[in-house]
Amino acid sequence: MEFSSKLLENAVYEMSQLPGIGKRTALRLVLHLLRQPEAQTEHLTLALGQLRKEIKFCKKCHSISDVEICDICSNPSREKELVCVVEDIRDVMAIESTGQYRGLYHVLGGKISPLDGIGPQDLKISSLVEKVKSGEIKELIFALSATMEGDTTNFYIYRQLEGLEVKISTIARGIGVNDELEYADEVTLGRSIMNRIPFENALKNS
Ligand SMILES: [Zn+2]
Repeated sequence: MEFSSKLLENAVYEMSQLPGIGKRTALRLVLHLLRQPEAQTEHLTLALGQLRKEIKFCKKCHSISDVEICDICSNPSREKELVCVVEDIRDVMAIESTGQYRGLYHVLGGKISPLDGIGPQDLKISSLVEKVKSGEIKELIFALSATMEGDTTNFYIYRQLEGLEVKISTIARGIGVNDELEYADEVTLGRSIMNRIPFENALKNS
């Protein structure tokens, strides 16, 4: 792509660093911004800049939050002894939208994936084990996607918790194998949390 303007080229390059945005799409988006009032671009850059500077991760569940302890963790009406283990905030949002879950979350920040160089030490697993050891959790619900990485992560955590006083369950797989949690519809997802099964049973079936 030949650019007559270095400024345009730079903007297109930065935009094309986003996932799923090729050079042509990046050019289209940048030209679109140029046609809009200048204030729109300012709002966009301000929102992104503020996000990066001010965003926090909840000290308890590691979810993205504007404050030190997120709204879910600080809500006194949530069941503190029930914790759902998820990959990232998209899963929290999907489960919250079902309106059927009243417990807390623990956000791992990914799943174990040797091919991508992600090991247990890269995830928030040790803080989960500490929480269980402290006795504040009665039941953990594994809600990672039904992929090989999700299963590996579940099993790793399960082994870390062996011998500890905690009930471990997994969401019922009304959701098809390989479906990412965020794409499951609300009714199916809500039902699969309510109909969760002991993790040991899921192990026997696999
Ligand atoms: Zn939290």
